[in-house]
Amino acid sequence: MNINLRIEHVSRTYEVSGRKVMALQDVSLTVTPGQVVALRGRSGSGKTTLLNCIGGLDRPSNGRIWLGQEEITGLSERRLVQLRRQRIGFVFQSHALLPTYSARENVDLMLRLVKMPRRERLARAVETLQLVGLAKWQDHRPFELSGGQQQRVAIARAIAARPAVILADEPTGELDSATGRQILQLFRQLADEQETAVLIATHDLAVDAFADVVVHLVDGRVHPPKPE
Ligand code: ADP
Ligand code: MG
Repeated sequence: MNINLRIEHVSRTYEVSGRKVMALQDVSLTVTPGQVVALRGRSGSGKTTLLNCIGGLDRPSNGRIWLGQEEITGLSERRLVQLRRQRIGFVFQSHALLPTYSARENVDLMLRLVKMPRRERLARAVETLQLVGLAKWQDHRPFELSGGQQQRVAIARAIAARPAVILADEPTGELDSATGRQILQLFRQLADEQETAVLIATHDLAVDAFADVVVHLVDGRVHPPKPE
């Protein structure tokens, strides 16, 4: 299946009290299935803005983003909601799991959103928790799990519908470095085994060891710029 993610000359400008902030400037990038791309850069360099534009939570001021044959930047809000649920998995620094739901129920919620038939849901939720190494913990609620385990549940939730792309924004930000590495290793494994394209925005240098491509953003630009 041709599901390359193509980011073509994307810029995003914000107006802040009459001043223009160039959050992204002419960013181009192609991500292929199974590739792990690290988006590195200091705070304010545009990492979150880029992920939000890819995930359809924000729209570029200029440029286009394609997922396979579909132009994300040209979709209606309604279609964007569908796309986000079915083809894109989001993982954030703080996982936002539902506290009264078990690990399995948190994953199941995503499957309900994509309207998977009830009889398929249980098997898929358990299988997905197995993928992230948490099958034994499926009945536990978030507060009964460690920070790393909670992030694994959040990753299971993000990949339950088998998205083409995972967008992870500072996914190791709240974890100690050893646990952070395990989470990065898990993204690597998902890319290798599920052919998922993974974009990880982080200022964590450890990500480089797990990524196929490291993209440095400086003031919203890819650095160093590609020679023309
Ligand atoms: P990073 O994730 O690398 O820390 P961001 O993408 O969050 O960077 O921010 C890039 C730049 O865009 C920063 O200067 C930030 O202040 C600005 N910015 C981000 N979102 C908004 C917004 N909604 N309104 C105004 N400025 C924003
Ligand atoms: Mg950010």
